[in-house]
Amino acid sequence: MACSHCHDVGWRTVPGDDAGRVERCECWRLGVATTQLDAARIPARYRDCDLDSFVTYPNEALLNAIDRAMRFAEAFPVVEKGLLLIGPPGIGKTHIAVSVLRQVVLAKGVRGLYYDTRDLLSTIRATYNPVTRTSELDVLRPVMEAELLVLDDLGAERPTDWVEETMNLVVNTRYNDRRPTIFTSNYEDASDPDALDSLLVRVGFRMHSRLREMCDFLEYSSPDFRDFQGGPPSGEELERRWKSQPRRTTLPSRATVRARAKLRPGGRDLGWSGGRAGG
Ligand SMILES: [Zn+2]
Repeated sequence: MACSHCHDVGWRTVPGDDAGRVERCECWRLGVATTQLDAARIPARYRDCDLDSFVTYPNEALLNAIDRAMRFAEAFPVVEKGLLLIGPPGIGKTHIAVSVLRQVVLAKGVRGLYYDTRDLLSTIRATYNPVTRTSELDVLRPVMEAELLVLDDLGAERPTDWVEETMNLVVNTRYNDRRPTIFTSNYEDASDPDALDSLLVRVGFRMHSRLREMCDFLEYSSPDFRDFQGGPPSGEELERRWKSQPRRTTLPSRATVRARAKLRPGGRDLGWSGGRAGG
């Protein structure tokens, strides 16, 4: 259906202006925002996410995460740090991250980008050319240059030297260019150093300390949405389930220190060899 204001020209006369000046029509702005949203690569199942529709209940850490996300979206691009949403699978971390991305793209025309971390790494691997390495940079450039990037499921990829180097390149470049990033991760920030499933172990020492500098850590727990049959649960159902599920206890910080000491004595330079994509 043609726009009733401009008949799809994209310009309309300024209402009540005798000089006949024109301005961009609202339909044109909406079109730009929609194009920007398409370019952001948000998966179909998250295309309609927003923070206002997120079902909440009295859970302090969850409410804090939502509040921080809302304030981040409102303040963008004037934000000091990105966000790192941490918690078990199925509690809406991606929903929160994508909602912020959508909001800033639609309201502020920001060039935003969503990537699942494993998809990003496999795309970089798939386009890897051992002679030129150019196709890798074609994939990496938009990731590094997006005004807001969501990297979903950080730490899901088996940590190898190549994975660590590639992720460090992306994250350090964005950090140095002061481009904020929103991460999600299923891996707890402090965990049993022997369990090999802490965030630190999954992303490596360098990335972990960089994340500390560039993100607010928003760790929360909640019932797994996928455990509810017949549509999304209400706040009351979530609260009842949440109160009845066992709590994870936080380990003393000494455990984190031990894990760090075990992991990577010395540390290395920040260079990226880029070439060993198989690893
Ligand atoms: Zn129009």
